[in-house]
Amino acid sequence: MKIAVVGTGVSGSYLVNRLSESHEVVGFERRPKDKFFAVCAWGTSKYEMRKLTAGTGLDFDKYILWEGKTMHVEIGDEMLDIPLDGLVTFNKHQFEVDLMKGRDVRYGVRANKEELQKEGFDMIIDATGNHRELLPKIKNDAFIPCYETKMKYKGGPPIDDFYVKPFARDTGYLWYFPLEKGHGYVGAGDFDKKQVDYVDEYNTAHPGEVEKRIGRPIRFLSPGYCEPFYEGNVVGVGEAIGTVFPILGEGIIPSIQCCNILLETMPDFKKYRAKVLKHFAIFDECYKLVDLKIKGKFSLTRNAALMWKIYRYMKKREDRFGMAIRANDLRQIISV
Ligand SMILES: Cc1cc2nc3c(=O)[nH]c(=O)nc-3n(C[C@H](O)[C@H](O)[C@H](O)COP(=O)(O)OP(=O)(O)OC[C@H]3O[C@@H](n4cnc5c(N)ncnc54)[C@H](O)[C@@H]3O)c2cc1C
Repeated sequence: MKIAVVGTGVSGSYLVNRLSESHEVVGFERRPKDKFFAVCAWGTSKYEMRKLTAGTGLDFDKYILWEGKTMHVEIGDEMLDIPLDGLVTFNKHQFEVDLMKGRDVRYGVRANKEELQKEGFDMIIDATGNHRELLPKIKNDAFIPCYETKMKYKGGPPIDDFYVKPFARDTGYLWYFPLEKGHGYVGAGDFDKKQVDYVDEYNTAHPGEVEKRIGRPIRFLSPGYCEPFYEGNVVGVGEAIGTVFPILGEGIIPSIQCCNILLETMPDFKKYRAKVLKHFAIFDECYKLVDLKIKGKFSLTRNAALMWKIYRYMKKREDRFGMAIRANDLRQIISV
């Protein structure tokens, strides 16, 4: 088949790599090559990423920048220390670039459906993330605005490991994710749109050199709320169809899982839709929980069943999340 992969973030670059083995594939990326960059905090679980990317010919471990031991979570006056096993930061930008090495990728091209169809592509994959440029717009689409700075600390980092500070009502959180050699990402995502203030405040209290300022919104709606996943010969993957874990804003692993479902089911889009809905059903539950929190309608007793369901899902997958999942931690974080 002749396939267009539009957008070469983690979803698109992964598909360009995997599909090029057996199809005629062209990747399209709206950013010029020198401005192409993975806007993200680059945090993920090494165990799951090793498994998911085994078919790419790349060795995931070579991209790891930092291996976490503890996630410090600041809740009011207390610091909750969550043991980590597998949570890392990795050079996501280089990983994406290497996934596409030697493949046909056209940078600086904002692809659109009509032109691609005229060019005779049999399948067009919308991997444009929060833009979702080729599929019909989603009713009541929702995003969390994010802002991030890449910091260099000459006098040593502000804290020894991963750090997050959830905001009241779960409107978002501030993070510090360590990178290599005294570098780290300080970022925040906040529904109340105070993300820049939170990051500036943190950087004033913990000064360092700002090497980069980046930002983009994250789609907050989960797949159950992001239909249609396909229209004609256009099919969506990754954040374009909401594969971001709503509680954490974590989209790397879910996006690759979504791409793998497409690889297993293509060209049967009906089957793809059914499998995506099933696989990400728990994301819809998480979305409900965060939505209730933001609206001030969440109650630990009334919504205990929902909490329990999410806890059990995460507990069974500690490797995939790269951390110890403990009911009390979840309760404390959700109760902020
Ligand atoms: C600040 C921030 C921090 C994050 N931190 C983490 C984290 O630590 N861990 C984690 O797991 N997730 C994190 N996420 C979420 C994660 O980055 C995304 O969910 C994931 O990268 C989505 O991948 P994607 O390939 O579907 O979309 P994207 O990575 O957004 O890629 C979409 C690509 O499509 C291109 N594009 C758009 N329109 C067009 C067009 N018409 N033609 C051609 N190209 C186009 C864009 O330029 C972009 O390169 C973070 C997100 C943000 C914003």
